[in-house]
Amino acid sequence: MHMACYHENESIGCVLHAHPKESFVFATLGMDMPNLTEATQKLGKIPTLEYRPATTVELAETVRKHIISLGEKVTPAAMLLNRHGILITDETLHKAYDMLERIEYNAYVASKALVFEKLGIAAIPDEVSAH
Ligand SMILES: [Zn+2]
Repeated sequence: MHMACYHENESIGCVLHAHPKESFVFATLGMDMPNLTEATQKLGKIPTLEYRPATTVELAETVRKHIISLGEKVTPAAMLLNRHGILITDETLHKAYDMLERIEYNAYVASKALVFEKLGIAAIPDEVSAH
C-alpha cells in the first residue's frame, strides 16, 4: 500500500497510515468524512475507499487506483480505509502528521455536526459542507 503510493507519484515523500479514533468512526461506517473545518479545506474530499482486507494486495491496488485518480493533488491527500483506518500522503512526515491532527479535529467536529443536524439543533451551512 505504501509502496504503491510512492511508486505512482514522485511528489509523495511520506505515506502515513494510522488508526485514529475520531476518523475511525467514518472509516468503520464506510462514510466519506464531511470536510468542514478551515484547517482541512485544502484536502477537498475525504473519501472512504471500498473495503479490502488489511495487508492484502487488493487493498494496495485500491489505494493505487485512488492515488492515480487524484493526479497531482496528492500532497496533501487523505483517504479513509474502510473498517481499517486512514492513509495520508504528503511531501514530508511533518506535514503528513500535521494533517492527521487536523483531520482528527475535523472528524470530531463532523461527528458532532451530523448529530446536531439530525436532531434539528443546527444544520450544516451549505457553504461549509460544499465539499
Ligand atoms: Zn493499519
